[in-house]
Amino acid sequence: MRTLLLLLAGWLLALPLLAQPTPPAFVVVPLGVKGGLAEGNLSAYLVAAAGSSDFIALDAGSLRPGAEKAVANHVFTSSVEKVMRQSIKGYCISHPHLDHMAGLLLNAPDDAPKPIYALPACLATMQNDYFNWRAWPNFADGGRAPALGKYQLRALVPGQATPLAGTALNVQAFVLSHGPGTPSTAFLVRSHNSYLLYLGDTGADDVEQSHCLRDLWQAVAPLVRAHRLRAVFIEAPYPPCPAPNCSSTATKPCAGDPRLGRGRGVGGRGGGGARWCVASAFTWPTVCFAWPVWL
Ligand SMILES: [Zn+2]
Repeated sequence: MRTLLLLLAGWLLALPLLAQPTPPAFVVVPLGVKGGLAEGNLSAYLVAAAGSSDFIALDAGSLRPGAEKAVANHVFTSSVEKVMRQSIKGYCISHPHLDHMAGLLLNAPDDAPKPIYALPACLATMQNDYFNWRAWPNFADGGRAPALGKYQLRALVPGQATPLAGTALNVQAFVLSHGPGTPSTAFLVRSHNSYLLYLGDTGADDVEQSHCLRDLWQAVAPLVRAHRLRAVFIEAPYPPCPAPNCSSTATKPCAGDPRLGRGRGVGGRGGGGARWCVASAFTWPTVCFAWPVWL
């Protein structure tokens, strides 16, 4: 599914902070920033506490092409294999659509043992539909024998903070709606007293006939007011523009939406950057494929 990334910076949601820059709390290295047909550049964002090289992957649509590019960019000084096996300590998967976890599946044979965090419905699809010795060997720790146990499937409880093993981060999951019968997930990642919010595919509440986004915004509003939410990554399906349901909500933005300005710099250095729209009233940080951004 074609996707669009909208990056909002928490420090830009609180302009007064511009006068008193705070040190970054996170480093993000996008290994994939597109969706749908962009094979080799599908949703995958490495996140670590600033100053750390212990990353969690938020979704894993494609991994190795981004890791190869990041190594070529000298973002990492180790080999691609070490980035894949050692720097990525685990995965948070928003939903089991292939453009969000094909990279994990394809690289599983060479991967190191590590946890996969997701809501129970997502883990069930992984186990039953992918790691079943029919679609793919069972690299998980349950399901059809023999379970190879390379991946520990760890169920997240919505709203409950869970430490991400091997990192200085923890995560809270929030349920999102991604069409009938397809839940998705928002991950609220914490480093010390700062947060980063990442949303998997979703749509506006009025389109999805849900209140998931309303509940999510209400949950994170106190963090915004306290200037503790450093960034929001919103990835949402988008229709061709102009489209009737495109301009009705900010959660389904699209290129050309007159209410939204154009982002700057995306994909400029690394090439193949995300397609995104931003509110032109602000200055936005640059997010590039296989380049780090500190938030
Ligand atoms: Zn999806």
